[in-house]
Amino acid sequence: MSTGTINVSVENIFPLIKKFLYSDHEIFLRELISNATDASLKLKHLANIGEANDVDVSNLAIEVKIDKDNNTLHIIDQGIGMTQEELNKYINDIAFSGAEEFIEKYKDKNGDDAGIIGHFGLGFYSAFMVANKVEIITKSFKDEPAAHWVCDGSPKYTLEDADKKEHGTEIILHISKDETEFLEESRIRELLVKYNKFMPIPIKFGTKTETLPKPEGAKEDDPAPTQEVDNIVNNPNPAWTKQPTELEDKDYKSFYRELYPMQFEEPLFHIHLNVDYPFNLTGILYFPKMTNDMSIQKDKIQLYQNQVFVTDNVEGIVPEFLTMLRGVIDSPDIPLNVSRSYLQADGAVKKISSYITRKVADKLKSLFNENRDDFEKKWNDIKIVIEYGMLTEEKFFEKAQKFALYPTVDGTHFTLDELQEKIKDNQTDKDDKLVVLYASNKEEQHSYIETAKDKGYEVLFLDSPIVSHLLQKMESEKDKVSFVRVDSDHIDNIIKKDEEQVSKLNDEEKETLKTFLDETIPAEKFSVQLEAMDSGANPFVITEPEFMRRMKEMQKTGGGGMFGMGNMPDMYNLIVNTNHELVVEILNTKTQKKKERLVNQALDLAKLSKGLLKGSDMTAFIKRSYEMIK
Ligand code: ADP
Repeated sequence: MSTGTINVSVENIFPLIKKFLYSDHEIFLRELISNATDASLKLKHLANIGEANDVDVSNLAIEVKIDKDNNTLHIIDQGIGMTQEELNKYINDIAFSGAEEFIEKYKDKNGDDAGIIGHFGLGFYSAFMVANKVEIITKSFKDEPAAHWVCDGSPKYTLEDADKKEHGTEIILHISKDETEFLEESRIRELLVKYNKFMPIPIKFGTKTETLPKPEGAKEDDPAPTQEVDNIVNNPNPAWTKQPTELEDKDYKSFYRELYPMQFEEPLFHIHLNVDYPFNLTGILYFPKMTNDMSIQKDKIQLYQNQVFVTDNVEGIVPEFLTMLRGVIDSPDIPLNVSRSYLQADGAVKKISSYITRKVADKLKSLFNENRDDFEKKWNDIKIVIEYGMLTEEKFFEKAQKFALYPTVDGTHFTLDELQEKIKDNQTDKDDKLVVLYASNKEEQHSYIETAKDKGYEVLFLDSPIVSHLLQKMESEKDKVSFVRVDSDHIDNIIKKDEEQVSKLNDEEKETLKTFLDETIPAEKFSVQLEAMDSGANPFVITEPEFMRRMKEMQKTGGGGMFGMGNMPDMYNLIVNTNHELVVEILNTKTQKKKERLVNQALDLAKLSKGLLKGSDMTAFIKRSYEMIK
C-alpha cells in the first residue's frame, strides 16, 4: 500500500467543492455516470480498431447500486478501467488540478452564472459534494493489477492493489450524514431519469418483474409466470441520434411520448435537426398545440450534450419564439461553462440559433407547399409561434411571407399576397391605400363584421394576443397597406371612397341635433360625430379608433405602444347616421322626455352591439324596452 498527498495548493478544496454548488449537489451522479459511459465507449472504440482484442464489448452496461447497510452508493462500469499509474495521473494529478482550477475561477461567481457553470466541469471530484469518503476500485483492460484508491476528503489518499478480476471501475461513495437522500431509491431513480435517460450505455438500477408467456397447456386461470430481470433505466438509442431516413412518423410520435410521458396530446409535427458543419447539432423539435397564452408553454425543450441532459432552459441558444416548441437539442458545441449573456454573444451559438430558425422556416414552408389543406387546419394551433417569430426575427419574417396565413371570419385562409390580390379592387381607398379589415372577436364584433361583409369586403379574423404588434410591423414594412379593425370607425370612413353621401339634414338641423345629443350623452364616455351614411346603416354606431386601441393593446402585451397609454380609459366615438329615419325622428320629436328616451334606447342598442351594455345600464335598458313594447 502507498499513501500520498494530492498535489494541490489549496489546503483542502473539499469543503469548497461542497459549498460551491450547494444547490446542485445532485449533479455528482450525472458526472460519475458520464465518466462511466466515457470509459465504456472508449473500450468499445479500442475493440473496434483492434486494440483490445480479448475483451467482449457487446454487452457493456453500467450498474448503480445502493447499499443501505453501509450507507454507500456504487457506480460500476465495465469500461476501459485504469492502471495504478493512470489512476495516479488522472485522478490524483489531472482531475484534482482541474477541480482546483475550476474552484479558483468560479468561487466568486454567484446567481445565474453559478447555475449554469454547475452543469459542467467538476467531474469526478463532484463526488465529494455528497460523500465523506470515496473509493475507486479499478482494473484496466490491459493485463495489469487492479487498484484500490481511498480518499476521505483531505488531500491525503491511499492506493493499493486490489483483487478485481474484470476490467472496469467501481466508484464507492460513502454518503455523508446530511446527504442521505442519495441513499433513497426513489431519489436516485429520479436523477437517473432526469440526467441519464438517453445516455448511450445501458444503466442498470435494481430489478423489475417481467411477465412471461404462459406455457402451453396452462389453464385459463393459472397465473402467468414471471421473472426478475435487470431494470434498465435509459434508452441508449434515442430517436434524435438516428438518421431521419430510419424513422417513420410513428417513431417520432412515440419518442415524443418518451420525452413527455405526462403529455397526452400528440404533437402537430416535428423537425429533425441534423448538422455536422460548421457546428455539431442533432435534435428533434416538435410543434405542440399552442394556446394563446404564451407564457405557460415555455421551457420544454431539453438540451443535451452527447446524450447527457444539461438543462431545460434553452434561453439564449434557441431563438426566443422557438422556446414555445418542445423536443431535444444535442450539441457538444454549446459552451456551458459560461454565463447566459456571454452565450448570447457567442459566435457558435448565434450560428446555431439562426440554423434552427432557418430549419423551422423551411419545414413550415414545405408543410405549406405539400399539403396546404392540412396546414390550414393546423394554423390556429401554431400561429402564435409563427406570428411571434415574425415579430422578433427579421429573417423569419421574410421567410414567413410564403406561408403565414391570414384567415377570414368565414374560414378562408389567404397568404398576404393572395389577400392583396383578392381585395385590391374593392378595398383600396381614394388615397390609394389598401385597407385590410380584421376582427378580433367574431361574437363581440358581429354587427360590424356583417356591415363590412355587406359591402363585399373581406374581414380577417386575427385573435392572437400579439396581433397589434404584428400589424404595426406589417404596416411599417409595407407601404400603402393599413390594417383596421372593423369596429374602429363606421365602414365608409374606414375605406373612404370618392362618392360623397348627401345628408338629409341641413346644416341648421345638424346643429340642433348635435347640441341636443351632446347634452344627453355623457361626453366623458363618447364623442358624438354626425355622419351622412347609407339610410340602411344603423342609426347609432359606437366605434373605437384603431390607433389608440392598438397602442393600448401593445402596451398591455409588453413593449411597444406609447408610454402611459396602457392606463388610459377606453376611447369611443358615437357615430350618428343623419340619414337614418330614427335620427330624423329624434330631431323632430317635440316632447323632451320622448326625445331622451329615443336617444337612450338607441345608444343602449349601439352599446349592446359593441358589448358595452352592462350592469345598471343593462337593467335600465331592459326595463325601458319592456315599457316600449307594452
Ligand atoms: P473529465 O471526465 O472531465 O476528464 P474527471 O475528473 O471526471 O474529468 O475524470 C478525470 C479522468 O479520470 C478522466 O478523464 C478519466 O481518464 C479518468 N476516469 C474517471 N472516471 C473513470 C472511469 N469510470 N473509468 C475510467 N477512467 C475514469
